[in-house]
Amino acid sequence: MTSIAVVVGDGIGQEVIPVAQDVLSLLHPEYEFYPVEIGYGKWKKTGVACTPDDIVLLRDADAIIFGAVTTPPAADYRSVVLEIRKELDLYANLRPIKGDGVDIMIVRENTEGLYSGIEWQEDDRASTLRVITRKGSERIARAACRIARERGNHLTIGNKANVIKSDAFFRDICIKTAEEEGVPYTTAFIDALTLDVLMHPERYDVIVTTNIFGDILSDAAAYLVGGLGMLPSANIGDSHALFEPVHGSAPDIAGKGIANPVAAIRSAAMLLSHLGDIPGATLIEEAIRLTAEAGITTPDTGGKATTKEAGAAVIDALLRIT
Ligand code: ATP
Ligand code: MG
Repeated sequence: MTSIAVVVGDGIGQEVIPVAQDVLSLLHPEYEFYPVEIGYGKWKKTGVACTPDDIVLLRDADAIIFGAVTTPPAADYRSVVLEIRKELDLYANLRPIKGDGVDIMIVRENTEGLYSGIEWQEDDRASTLRVITRKGSERIARAACRIARERGNHLTIGNKANVIKSDAFFRDICIKTAEEEGVPYTTAFIDALTLDVLMHPERYDVIVTTNIFGDILSDAAAYLVGGLGMLPSANIGDSHALFEPVHGSAPDIAGKGIANPVAAIRSAAMLLSHLGDIPGATLIEEAIRLTAEAGITTPDTGGKATTKEAGAAVIDALLRIT
């Protein structure tokens, strides 16, 4: 029995994740779904955003579909998403940027770099330690090479090695790994690369980079495909996998029923691919395409549909093509 942990989380996560679950259960009525309550809402009620028991529930699942968790600016509140990534060792963050004339996979290192969580403050100085390890760099480079081989077989290594020593270390490990794996590669400085991806997206296939650079690059690249409401992501480790929209809880539009469910539905498609149902994932992408073609989209992408209407339209399209 395949079990899927469902974390709706906070804000618009509560609106878009049920749509993604409907899509999954339509294609796989045999899946067992179980909810796990995690997030700021839970923290306000109980003082804890995510308990050790919650982590056990996540570990037990074959895959996790995850909404979003609001991170309030309170000093004593640690980011739950970072904690889950660490606990389940979800070291590869995959962010496909796919649309008209654009098909790029950003592979972002997900556990170290500037998000190491090693930080402190003295009187007039705040510091965050940027940690890049050989193990962390090698495994993300291997994952990127594997993905490149399945796709266009080209790897771009995004870095800032001209200024940051730890990035030279990362870049060199990626180069060595690509050579060992026989994957053609180029290297590029992340600032110039970000501009070039926006200007010439067709030049890129798989881009591997460190944690914060991948985060910024993928949000910028969202511009190419209609904004944050369109972008799914996967967080993959050797034993666990979590799928979530790139966007957050979007408190500004939460509760209004207008959030774009496409990023969440696409995250469900990535979940299916991961579990081996590649035809299912392709069907979902096709249903999303047909729905957009029919003009049924939410306001962020120029339409008038509500979250429920847009979700129902994707499900109708799926029923028509399955
Ligand atoms: P968080 O702190 O949880 O990351 P945020 O305020 O950064 O929340 P995001 O979810 O990252 O908000 O999104 C930034 C903006 O993009 C939102 O304010 C929202 O207007 C828009 N947005 C994000 N996701 C969607 C979506 N699915 N549909 C429509 N608009 C969205
Ligand atoms: Mg955000």
